[in-house]
Amino acid sequence: MTNAAKTIVGNWKLHGSLQENAARLAALKAGCRSDDALAVCVPFPYLAQAQQLLQGSAIGWGAQNVSEHAKGAFTGEVSATMLADFGCGCVIVGHSERRSLYGEDDATVVRKAQAVAAAGMTPIVCVGETLSERERGDTAQVVTRQLAAVLTVASEELKHRLVVAYEPVWAIGTGRAASEEDVREVHALLRGQLKEAGVNGARLLYGGSVKANNAKALLNIAGVDGALVGGASLDAEEFLAIVQAARA
Ligand code: PEP
Repeated sequence: MTNAAKTIVGNWKLHGSLQENAARLAALKAGCRSDDALAVCVPFPYLAQAQQLLQGSAIGWGAQNVSEHAKGAFTGEVSATMLADFGCGCVIVGHSERRSLYGEDDATVVRKAQAVAAAGMTPIVCVGETLSERERGDTAQVVTRQLAAVLTVASEELKHRLVVAYEPVWAIGTGRAASEEDVREVHALLRGQLKEAGVNGARLLYGGSVKANNAKALLNIAGVDGALVGGASLDAEEFLAIVQAARA
């Protein structure tokens, strides 16, 4: 991912087939420009396909999860070096679905982020509050705790490579994006925390129901360096409209 434009990352989640992916990636390649900064995080089995179809294009590719372990008796796991072998540039770490459905806690997220950075890739670390946490007024406390867990033990490599995605859990897949004011406020908070930890270059993305019709407004908010896009990344035309909104 380059630092030129706002960064747009698609999270395909558990979707796709060889045929579907080929059509989607061809459409993305045809519609993006060489100065766009975009990537797609695909399911593990499709990394080879992404590598084959995207190599040499402006589009990066990555994974949605990684093992915290380098190797060993961990059936079903995929290591960071395996992902690097398939040309991954980035890996989503600590997505709220991983935290809530698979019990990933802050400590696990940190170990995964370290593994990704050590393998020379960009960890996209997700932080965000649930609806009940927001309603209790705990948003700031939750997101700063999640980021602090990473920053307090981060290697220089991780600090250098870190990308953070603010993804309010209640905005993911609901069609209800956070308000501009909420995004501005949380991004300012996280930016301050990053600066205090000496992490000045980290990109700060917003994620949660980013669509073609709200992308421009969300991407124009001060402190937003890009977007992590779930559902809308499955539709090439809509995803390209978001990429286009990131250009101006
Ligand atoms: C996500 O899965 O990270 C996400 C932001 O999903 P959606 O865009 O569908 O809300």
